Amino acid sequence: MKIFINLALALACVYMCLGTGRLTYSGGYNELLKLLLNTLYLYGSVWLFVKFRYIFWLIFFPFVLFLCFYAPVGLTNGMVNEAFVMSIFGTYLSEASEFSRTLPAEYVLLSIFSLSLIIYLRKTNKTVLTKRQIFIFFTLFAVATATGKLWGIATTSSFFKSIKFFQKSYNDLKLYQNTVIKPQWQIKSIDNKYQNHVVVIGESARRDYHEIYGYSIKNNPFLSSVNGTFIDGFNAVGINTIPSLNGTLNHNRNLNLNIVDLANLSGFETFWFSNQGYLGCYDTLTTLVAKRAKNVYFMPKEGGGKFDSDLVGHFAKIFDTPSQKPRVIFLHFIGSHPITCNKLSSKEYLKYPDEATFKINCYVESIRQTDNDLKSVYEILTRNLQENNESFSMIYFSDHGLTHVKKPVELLAVEHIAKEHLQVPLLKISSDDNGRKFIQNESYQSHFPQSFAKWIGVQTENFNEISDVFEEVKQDDFLNSKMLIKNISGDPAIDISSFK
Ligand SMILES: [Zn+2]
Repeated sequence: MKIFINLALALACVYMCLGTGRLTYSGGYNELLKLLLNTLYLYGSVWLFVKFRYIFWLIFFPFVLFLCFYAPVGLTNGMVNEAFVMSIFGTYLSEASEFSRTLPAEYVLLSIFSLSLIIYLRKTNKTVLTKRQIFIFFTLFAVATATGKLWGIATTSSFFKSIKFFQKSYNDLKLYQNTVIKPQWQIKSIDNKYQNHVVVIGESARRDYHEIYGYSIKNNPFLSSVNGTFIDGFNAVGINTIPSLNGTLNHNRNLNLNIVDLANLSGFETFWFSNQGYLGCYDTLTTLVAKRAKNVYFMPKEGGGKFDSDLVGHFAKIFDTPSQKPRVIFLHFIGSHPITCNKLSSKEYLKYPDEATFKINCYVESIRQTDNDLKSVYEILTRNLQENNESFSMIYFSDHGLTHVKKPVELLAVEHIAKEHLQVPLLKISSDDNGRKFIQNESYQSHFPQSFAKWIGVQTENFNEISDVFEEVKQDDFLNSKMLIKNISGDPAIDISSFK
């Protein structure tokens, strides 16, 4: 019986360690060692803490409760980060039942099992320790915890990071609930050149992984042939979605100067269609702006498909109804959001032979998939131009990039970033383009609102002069995005062309 309990506990510990999203068993010897050490640490901690009643319930129980609570999320979505905690937070608060349905049932069961087992061990543990044993136990635990930084105790650092993130998210959430947007735009004149304006907001796409920006794999069949303006030099102003889009959609991060209201006040029919599901739904700052649009659609997780191509299908329906007003349409893609392999509609990526760079292959393929989705958007707009004689212009950029994490190598939104994490694609394709224009500049998302105003042909009192992200400019980084760069040695794209 004792052997079974120990075995079950060991398995539960492996599960909770993997559930932090920071450890893996498939990353070679070093990763396996790290997983083993973490499992031993957790396993030892359980046997130590179950011997105390109050210390167990006050300190250890909240810790394992967190690990069990997070594991189904960690195993499907990866390690805790601020944006993610924020999303879970909002989700658990308002749509708990629907969110839990998106988590695999076996993980939820494993969590319940692990937690019950540890409670059972506490309840049945009647051993009384001598002072000497207690001393030895705590010394060992303290040494393991103190030296944990050396081999990375994933469980505790996940726990403490999450507490910090949850606290911040809670404060932010409270702040947003009380936010009432009062547009402060002062419109001077309107003279729009196009009937339809489409802003496609990409997700986690790094510039250097695009063929059109020099990547070694041909993953941009559409973008490398269509006429348009391609910018090499556009920078994100945040590491993940919320801060990036906050700086892109709102002038100087002021919600009262958001570009959706700018379009509303200028007489455009506005649309915000999102495939960021629950994540996007509760990216609260983004949602506040998204909901300013006259027509809002968040793609349902169930029954509504999950690919950006499904969102594009929904977008096509806009043109079934004629509009007297010119339109501004935002499409918020899920793009190359981790875990990228799960975002691919084609199963071609499974044929990729190299295990070490397997996830990079998924990432490269997700860029190809977005290229194809952009092609569909373009074709819908072109068809509408032919049938209804409505001119168009579309812009695509990514909210931010990602950073390589090692063994097995993959791309994630982590804190320790190099400049490549902020370098994103930016391009514009219009119905009156007659060639391919490449522009090198140093531009920032913080200048997007003024460029947007210029693009839709609106002049406002709010900008003294306009610095356009589509021009050959060297812009002022007024939101200090360069401060985010912590790794100055760089994080170049990995060339996987020899495996393809
Ligand atoms: Zn993002």
